[in-house]
Amino acid sequence: MIPARTRFAPSPTGHLHLGGARTALYAYLLARKTGGQFILRIEDTDMKRTAPGAEQEIIDGLRWLGLNYDEGPDIGGKFGPYRQTERREIYAHHARLLVDSGHAYPCFCTTERLDKVRQDQMKRKENPHYDGTCRILSHDEAAKRIAAGESYTIRFKMPHDGATVAHDHLRGDIVTENKQLNDQVILKTDGLPTYHLAAMVDDHEMQITHVVRGSEWLGTFPLHVNIVRAFGWEEPTWVHLSVFLKPSGKGKLSKRDSADAIKDDHSFYIKDLDGLGFIPEGVINWMALMGWGVAEDDVMTTDQMVDRFSVDSLTPSPAAINFQRLDHFNATHIRLLTTEDLAARLKPYFTRQALEVDNDTLLKIIPLIRERLTTLDDCLAFGSFFFMEDVNPAAEDLIAKGLDAKQSAEIAKKSYEILSGLSGIDHATAEPPMRAYVEESGLNANQVFGILRVATTGQKVSPPLFESMEVIGREKCLQRIKNAVAILEKM
Ligand code: GLU
Repeated sequence: MIPARTRFAPSPTGHLHLGGARTALYAYLLARKTGGQFILRIEDTDMKRTAPGAEQEIIDGLRWLGLNYDEGPDIGGKFGPYRQTERREIYAHHARLLVDSGHAYPCFCTTERLDKVRQDQMKRKENPHYDGTCRILSHDEAAKRIAAGESYTIRFKMPHDGATVAHDHLRGDIVTENKQLNDQVILKTDGLPTYHLAAMVDDHEMQITHVVRGSEWLGTFPLHVNIVRAFGWEEPTWVHLSVFLKPSGKGKLSKRDSADAIKDDHSFYIKDLDGLGFIPEGVINWMALMGWGVAEDDVMTTDQMVDRFSVDSLTPSPAAINFQRLDHFNATHIRLLTTEDLAARLKPYFTRQALEVDNDTLLKIIPLIRERLTTLDDCLAFGSFFFMEDVNPAAEDLIAKGLDAKQSAEIAKKSYEILSGLSGIDHATAEPPMRAYVEESGLNANQVFGILRVATTGQKVSPPLFESMEVIGREKCLQRIKNAVAILEKM
């Protein structure tokens, strides 16, 4: 296996989303599988679109997901700099090489002229394309205009005849008639490159072996292979990933889907997922299966993915975002965490609610609540009462089904009597006499235990009652039952 050098090359224009993160994941897996390197490169040459904080968000997102890179803007590396605006000279040099070899030319057309050309073409129902005015300028004429200080771009000179065959690893050969191709700008008037030049130059200079990227680049893929070939470079293996579809499976994702996801406590943005209680292990596993031809419910850690990964098993078919599956994988991976690890991840959720958390209690409740967690923040619903001084049950919740307040108060009192007469409140000691009471009284267990549950936990749904009472402790439980009696008697 030849060590692969792969890269994740986001533009810092917005939030790191699932599409980007999945691209990064596959590039990472390929590098790790083959003992190669995974690189982060920031493609920030479209400075108007650069968003403050976006680069840091990408870095934080990759770290959170555990997709550690070997080279990148913040850690450096042999092939740096890894931020494209710091590589300006490299691109200008390469653009000149293409002009000198006859594969590119300076273009002096103004934006106004280009707009007019485009409008005329649209009127004629033609696809908008550059009309080639500057393609035929002589070398001397172009040099004169540059010397006179005219502003210009550099365009790549696409072949007019024949066809371009571009090979995608997942789709095979993609053949495009060259007459359909356009002379695209590769260097802008500000001297900065467009993606087409910058990415090709960097992938070559950084010795990238596999370009793993989104399928939105399939449209300009023929241009890219023509640029690489014009330089006479060896092509990388091109891997264009599948697109994501709406949760319904119909159509591409839209802003509206993103808003719907948030309403439903999910998100397309990596930065949100942590706060929503998702764990990176669950997110990574879920993402990995959208576009990789392994079984849909394969539970894997990142290391296990590395073992099983092959770029050949990626699939080009579109993948629908399914948040129910994210819930499933998150819950599954929560169950796989060690008690100590899960405790450490849950603690901030409690402390953020100003609950005082002692580690002993926290470790004891993990086995009681773990199975009930889909997201980490579910721990609040199932575990806050363990850390509260008092609980304040609603009076009506204390009344058992089919009984009134007075009867419920009697049951609470009797429970107090039984439990206070015991030597301890561990479940092995407390449960048998309470069950005996249910038997003798002719009440049903749901009625008695329901009152006891609401009294001691303050809520109708809780982890197993007697195990919970054991953790709450004898004194607190008795105090809470006494309090429940008082509430019921006041009704
Ligand atoms: N900067 C491009 C983007 O964010 C990168 C595409 C690529 O991976 O080559 O879409």
